[in-house]
Amino acid sequence: MSHQKTIDASANELLEVAKKEGIETVWDRYEAMKPHCGFGELGVCCRLCWKGPCRIDPFGNGPQRGVCGADAHTIVARNLIRMMAAGAAAHSEHGRHIALCLLEVADDHAPAYSIKDKDKLRRIAERLHLAPEGKDIKQIAREVATATLDDFSRQQASIPCNWAKETMTEERVDRLVQLGVMPHNIDAVVTQIMGRTHVGCDADPVNLLLGGIKGALADYTGMYMATELSDALFGTPQPVISSANLGVLKEDAVNIALHGHNPLLSEVVCDVAIGMNEEAKKAGAKEGINIVGICCTGNEVMMRHNIPLATNYLSQELALVTGAVDALVVDVQCIMPSVAKISECYHTEVITTMAENKIPGATHIQFQEKTALEDARKTVELAIEAFKKRGSSPVHIPNHKQTAIAGFSAEALIGALSKLNAEDPLKPIIDNIVDGSIQGIALFVGCGNPRATQDNNFMTIAKELARNNVMILATGCASGAFAKNGLMTQEATEAYAGDGLKGVLTAVGQAAGLEGPLPLVLHMGSCVDTTRAANVAVAIADKLGVDLDKLPLVASAPEAMSEKAVAIGTWSVALGLPTHIGITPQITGSSEVVKFLTETAKEALGGYFIVETDPVKAADKLFDVIKERRQGLGI
Ligand code: SF4
Ligand code: SF4
Repeated sequence: MSHQKTIDASANELLEVAKKEGIETVWDRYEAMKPHCGFGELGVCCRLCWKGPCRIDPFGNGPQRGVCGADAHTIVARNLIRMMAAGAAAHSEHGRHIALCLLEVADDHAPAYSIKDKDKLRRIAERLHLAPEGKDIKQIAREVATATLDDFSRQQASIPCNWAKETMTEERVDRLVQLGVMPHNIDAVVTQIMGRTHVGCDADPVNLLLGGIKGALADYTGMYMATELSDALFGTPQPVISSANLGVLKEDAVNIALHGHNPLLSEVVCDVAIGMNEEAKKAGAKEGINIVGICCTGNEVMMRHNIPLATNYLSQELALVTGAVDALVVDVQCIMPSVAKISECYHTEVITTMAENKIPGATHIQFQEKTALEDARKTVELAIEAFKKRGSSPVHIPNHKQTAIAGFSAEALIGALSKLNAEDPLKPIIDNIVDGSIQGIALFVGCGNPRATQDNNFMTIAKELARNNVMILATGCASGAFAKNGLMTQEATEAYAGDGLKGVLTAVGQAAGLEGPLPLVLHMGSCVDTTRAANVAVAIADKLGVDLDKLPLVASAPEAMSEKAVAIGTWSVALGLPTHIGITPQITGSSEVVKFLTETAKEALGGYFIVETDPVKAADKLFDVIKERRQGLGI
């Protein structure tokens, strides 16, 4: 029997509309795909060469090796680490794009951009040992961009990537270097994974997995630079009181939904749209232009521009089913190709903007840094034209929206804590962890997946952990789930936090001038911003003089689906965090791979994977791990 599709009230309402109008959604296609191929679910099918496809019989009655002789362990490990390479490629392309833009800004070749947070850029330069004192800001930008791009070109394998080495504890760096998994060059590491998984190469599952971990750490490196350099260019997020869920769309406005991940375009669209409000009104939109976000571009613009978040990954199609979205402007990653097909039923203009991310049926406006202002203007003009076509067609905007306090960058969080202790901002957190008022910290990351009831795993686990005084951080579509469903509010803190956690969140919130507690879940940004949480965790570890694998920190991706999520989960393990996945990963066809990731990794790295699809049991397991870590620390 099928499980409930979603707990999101807007999504439930619009699923009914979609059904009536005969519009197929991700949930319909998921049902149509059943039963899923058992070989694929176990990860034991291989299509790496044309002697295959091969698949291993899990019951032992059929083939136990592919045509080339690869067994289930080799096949599963190869498939998995190729996912890590793809995740690393996606994130690090994002990082490279931002670094190249920073270089263009330094050379005055990107008029739409400036360095909005110069202090942050100087801090980055210090972290990368670039001695910024006395240098012009453009010179600093050039040096930071160059040191960043070195992480894509260095040929000496013994020199770690700058953005990896300078952002971890020393102990962790040493451990990863000794294991041979510290990346020296993001591109090279991704290439190595593709090379070693070619037919007739690496067949040792453990060796393959170590190569995958290196790839996942390349993913971390690419993510870290993307986030930090975005802050320098676009401003470091500070808390904003925003709103979330599809009720943020407006009937009498030109609704532009920004979707994807890369803030380079969306930042400029936000700026340009302000100046085009009158044009929208002249076209009949009484409320002018209404920009909303979807997925992680949504998280980016929510934090920096207080743009409301319409929805997260899984329900992106339903934004179009409202009939109120005039333009869906997409950049990269996590955009369902089906949006173009659905847009045919409406007046909606789907606009792709990146050369390497086009969708049949969409309009393409090639975005370039040099012409960003004109490109952004063209997209807004198309949205206004589409609005005119909407005319009096009915819209169905659900009456659901939630307040969402967002924008807790590491700086914002530490800034709030500094109101309690200006000289030693981390002390209040550490004291409260030591005395047990805060039992630990859990970071929620990742996607939505129709294999689980949308948003339910996030909500169930977070509420359960908060009740047990575990502090909750979130990024990516986890942030979207919490924002839409009301956990990024002060009321949620009052309703769900245990007494110890409530006391701390209230003290910090009051001191920071919020006239109440911090929200129950602290929104740290998009999925690429998961390194913001690593930043805070490393600061706590450094302060205590212990490595991350000793701290009561856990991570959870309870509704994961993407290759990026596989890479993030793996670097989380490599940093020393017990990391929960709520979707059974496609690796269970190899006992060796499962053992390595759930047991051996614990000895080698301190972190390990916990797989639990039941959210209540997952919360129990995560809390048990936190208690075990506390015991280890003697607190
Ligand atoms: S690489 Fe080996 S297992 Fe994979 S498809 Fe080719 S022959 Fe089959
Ligand atoms: S969290 Fe997952 S689904 Fe959401 S945008 Fe990131 S990768 Fe895509």
